Amino acid sequence: MNVLIVGAGVVGVTAAWALVRRGHQVTVVDRLEGAALETSLANAGQRSYGYVYPWAAAGMVGTALRGLLSRYGPLKITTPWSPRTLEFLAMTARYSLSQRHYAVSHAAMLELGEYSRQCFLALEEPPARKFDGQHDGLMEVAGNQAACSALRTKARTLEKLGIEHEWLSAAAVRQREPGMQGSGTLVGGLRLPHDGTGDCHRFTRALARACERQGVHFQYRTAIRDWDLEGRRIRGAWLQSLPEHPGGSAKDEPSGHYLETGQVVLCAGCASRDLARPLGLNLPIYPVKGYSLTSDLEDPSKAPRSTVVDHGYKVAITRLGKRVRVTGFVELDSFQRKIPTRRLQVLREGFASRFPGAADLGRAEAWTGFRPMTPDGPPILGWGHQENLLLNTGHGTFGWTLSAGCGEIIGQLLDGETPAMGLAAFRPDRFT
Ligand SMILES: Cc1cc2nc3c(=O)[nH]c(=O)nc-3n(C[C@H](O)[C@H](O)[C@H](O)COP(=O)(O)OP(=O)(O)OC[C@H]3O[C@@H](n4cnc5c(N)ncnc54)[C@H](O)[C@@H]3O)c2cc1C
Repeated sequence: MNVLIVGAGVVGVTAAWALVRRGHQVTVVDRLEGAALETSLANAGQRSYGYVYPWAAAGMVGTALRGLLSRYGPLKITTPWSPRTLEFLAMTARYSLSQRHYAVSHAAMLELGEYSRQCFLALEEPPARKFDGQHDGLMEVAGNQAACSALRTKARTLEKLGIEHEWLSAAAVRQREPGMQGSGTLVGGLRLPHDGTGDCHRFTRALARACERQGVHFQYRTAIRDWDLEGRRIRGAWLQSLPEHPGGSAKDEPSGHYLETGQVVLCAGCASRDLARPLGLNLPIYPVKGYSLTSDLEDPSKAPRSTVVDHGYKVAITRLGKRVRVTGFVELDSFQRKIPTRRLQVLREGFASRFPGAADLGRAEAWTGFRPMTPDGPPILGWGHQENLLLNTGHGTFGWTLSAGCGEIIGQLLDGETPAMGLAAFRPDRFT
């Protein structure tokens, strides 16, 4: 089948790989000049299969709003609040009231996480090996008793759901992470031994090259301008070539060209909402901003070995080969790309309080990106309104983690197979 994939982030490229391996003719279009240049560029690098959870947790809105007043609170909301921000917060608040919705979504995300882990292990082989990745677990650490009891609650949930984990004393945490010698207090930690890390951007680029070798056609600097609909089918799309530099003129066919297709897979991250609207779908995906700092290591012996989530500063610190990345914040700021110094300062403080002397974050590369978040949290995976439209989007905080499993499931749906797991929690029409 002739398949058009919209979006060459990690989600679109892993789907392209799954489909070309199943014998489909795949074209991937992306408005940027290469793969993984939007949200998949510099995320925290965690493949947190046992650590995936819905965004709309019970009490999260209250806790988050209280944290708004603190410099270290992870949630930030730019004022004045836009109607879209209010709509998103209201929907999240509504979902967070339903413990049942949370429990069902959490279990489904964990099942998808485990399936993705298995799929990823197959993917890691030659197609995309050089991505500074490893499987050395994920550790969440607590610096005080309150954080500790929150982690203990999480451990009980993992226990119930059968996710392997271990509780570590402060000494055991330091044994696992000998570089953790900073002044930040340490009470204990929760470790998920099967989770992994890796540079999502490097992985996606390598996999895109492997896709090309298998015959996938990538059209970069090309945006979807409009859909061509015929009854309940998408017949094709009008594409627009974009200039190499903003403000420049399009190199070829500035008025666009037409691409006929048998199947569309929408993987356009935060842009999926606007692209799906003419197709009669309301996808309330909101861009939730975060920041990262990436630096070469100065002293690897003082650096993290794997990935550490610090409950105090709410930062994730991840070793990526000879580099380290520190990530944090969930900010509702529409699509503003500015990077305030005070946010980066919190990331630096969080890192220094745990791994002093490992790297000089004063010279680190700063980045901001937008998590394509759904109001409840699970991604959107399944058939759209049109009989030849599949959706694989809205991955929020966990797109790198869940991409490999979702790509496979898209292949199963397209080929009329029973998907590897039930998809009710990910239904595209669940918001209506
Ligand atoms: C700070 C931060 C930390 C994170 N940490 C982690 C982590 O540790 N682990 C994890 O699993 N996830 C993490 N994430 C989330 C993860 O990065 C995302 O879920 C994932 O990158 C989404 O991938 P995607 O392919 O759906 O979207 P994107 O990577 O954004 O790709 C979408 C693509 O669609 C293209 N596109 C958009 N509109 C059009 C159009 N009209 N025509 C053509 N192309 C179009 C875009 O150019 C883009 O390339 C983090 C995110 C942030 C912001």
